[in-house]
Amino acid sequence: MSHSPLPLISPASSVHPTPSFDDALASHGKEPLTAESVTTLQVNLGKVCNQTCHHCHVDAGPQRTESMTKDTIDQIIEVLDRTPQITTVDITGGAPEMNPHFEYLVRECHIRDRHIIDRCNLTVVYVKGKSHLPEFLAQHQVEIIASLPCYQETNVDQQRGKGVFDRSISALQILNALGYGKTGTGLNLHLVYNPQGVNLPPSQEELEQDYKEELMNRYGIQFNRLLTITNMPISRFMEDLEESGQVETYYNLLQENFNRSTVDEVMCRSLISVGWDGRLSDCDFNQMLDLPLQNYAPQWIGDFNLATLEHRQIVTGSHCFGCAAGAGSSCGGTLT
Ligand code: SF4
Ligand code: SF4
Repeated sequence: MSHSPLPLISPASSVHPTPSFDDALASHGKEPLTAESVTTLQVNLGKVCNQTCHHCHVDAGPQRTESMTKDTIDQIIEVLDRTPQITTVDITGGAPEMNPHFEYLVRECHIRDRHIIDRCNLTVVYVKGKSHLPEFLAQHQVEIIASLPCYQETNVDQQRGKGVFDRSISALQILNALGYGKTGTGLNLHLVYNPQGVNLPPSQEELEQDYKEELMNRYGIQFNRLLTITNMPISRFMEDLEESGQVETYYNLLQENFNRSTVDEVMCRSLISVGWDGRLSDCDFNQMLDLPLQNYAPQWIGDFNLATLEHRQIVTGSHCFGCAAGAGSSCGGTLT
């Protein structure tokens, strides 16, 4: 695939006028961010979703039509065949299961012995034609990372839509019955918490204990780990901040809590994100902000070249403070 060259992006470029993430790195004695390796391919299958959550950084919903084609998925599989260094395929969306080629991708990754993650919103198993998904995921040893921003109905429904809590609980019970979240089955089920409003997440370990007790006592639900994730100041969450006049307050919170020790662990150092259209980015957030890779790097999955992508300079912006605040944040939870 040939594409016109893109302008070189300054690593100090920012989607928000202040502050500069690279200045913060420099003031803490850190070099500009560079990748170390590419061990995870995070694949965004599109923006179609059965929910319309307030905090969604993808701006996903039922009316969206963007969806990865089978041709692009075949290019991903070809990359896996020639890149054994990529050990994990992390599938996201939207609701990735609503892409018609989701199961094809999972099967092909399973054949190739890759660790597969499905970022599942849980309620998708109640979409027409998707009730077989829990068994399918278990058969293919897919790790499930599922959003449940609280163990209380009111908070979940407020953030994710009316009735979402009840359907999420039922879906978790179905997954538990298949062995998900239970010791010794190898079927990992992790839950994701993100804060309501202008706050950083609390301690992941302490909140995990609360979740485990509450979900077990109330609903008999088991899961492996709780991942706390900081809300990124982009897309719908940014719109909420703008509407409530809290943009500056939130940036100040992130900046004041900048934690130097998270920087070496941020996920872009070992991950490449593939957009629904096949474009490559340093992470899902950069992808949503239309921030391409530096222009000397391949820009499309069809041009994937590990040697150029490893050790690349990462395109940062002020949203990166969201990864480096407090205990740090990534698609795998806290960083420290
Ligand atoms: S379930 Fe996930 S992808 Fe869908 S709208 Fe909610 S946050 Fe966005
Ligand atoms: S948002 Fe986070 S993962 Fe993405 S480039 Fe910035 S620091 Fe890296």
